Amino acid sequence: MRCLSCHKLSWQTFCKLCQNKLLKPSISKRKIGSLEVYSFFKYQNIEDLLLTKHTPQGYIVYRALAKQSFRPFIKNFIKEDSRVVYIVGVDENVKSGYSHVSLLTEQLSYKNSKVLYSKLMATNLVNYAGKDLQFRLENPRDFQYTGLEDIEVILVDDIITTGTTLQEAKRVLEKNRVKVLFALTLANT
Ligand SMILES: [Zn+2]
Repeated sequence: MRCLSCHKLSWQTFCKLCQNKLLKPSISKRKIGSLEVYSFFKYQNIEDLLLTKHTPQGYIVYRALAKQSFRPFIKNFIKEDSRVVYIVGVDENVKSGYSHVSLLTEQLSYKNSKVLYSKLMATNLVNYAGKDLQFRLENPRDFQYTGLEDIEVILVDDIITTGTTLQEAKRVLEKNRVKVLFALTLANT
């Protein structure tokens, strides 16, 4: 098989060289209101890979990227912080039979870190792709949360653009007495 990043022959989804160089995660932090958002990659560096999202390869690519970034992050986090933490993904309208965000959150399931699947669902399925901040503000996702209350969570999404989605998600969770510690995203645009 071939490396899905550089297309050279490789036994793994991404070859060793890509894993160690091009796809080496480098954490950046953004502050959106009172929410700290950590991202592992710059969008433009892995754009080709992210664009596989709605293709048959997307499943393999997203999972491999999550293993490369979310997995080591949670292992480190749990090592330093022994409390129970829950993981909540910003769920999307599932078009291709599976949720991309759940490919990310499943890599965060480790020891005291527990994933709540499909507990935060958008009831407004408006498409934000290519839309500006104004449009996003006027068309909120209207999330519905059906998970546990009185817990601490790490919020997860695949890409952060303006941050309005994550902010809205945080507000809805807080209304349900959920404390959002911070957010994690694969890529920052
Ligand atoms: Zn490669």
